[in-house]
Amino acid sequence: MRVGIGYDSHRLVRGRRLVIGGVDIPFEQGLYGHSDADVLCHAIIDAILGALGSGDIGMHFPDTDRRWKDASSIEMLSEITGLVRRKGFEIAWIDSVVIAEKPRLRPFIEAMKGNISGAGIPYDTVNIKAKTNEGMGFTGKGEGMAAHAVCLLTKTVS
Ligand code: MG
Repeated sequence: MRVGIGYDSHRLVRGRRLVIGGVDIPFEQGLYGHSDADVLCHAIIDAILGALGSGDIGMHFPDTDRRWKDASSIEMLSEITGLVRRKGFEIAWIDSVVIAEKPRLRPFIEAMKGNISGAGIPYDTVNIKAKTNEGMGFTGKGEGMAAHAVCLLTKTVS
């Protein structure tokens, strides 16, 4: 078994879509980044890569590569779950937390899990929690959002 941890944060700006867990969430601001800036998918990708011992998201999807400009992070996640299988591992569990003061994310969690399962992580092996930061710090003041994730991988018999 292997464990990995992932963390990501993005700034909130006007004029961008807010995409979390592959879900387009209605809000007056969106997350700024080279890809769609899906903070949850990025934290999950880094947790998986950590458990695999395969570096980090920036090594696999460099922001200097135009291929990933405004890219769907669900598709990036799908590439990484393919890498997990090729390396002879299986994702046993993902737990995650998104920290956002606004908007309320809980109503979108089931749809996020559906999108993530489409990227190769079965629906019943991923947990997503949504928290505010009680008004403190950059997340609490609405300057940005953050996400944490952990991943447990098991070696598949080959
Ligand atoms: Mg990111």
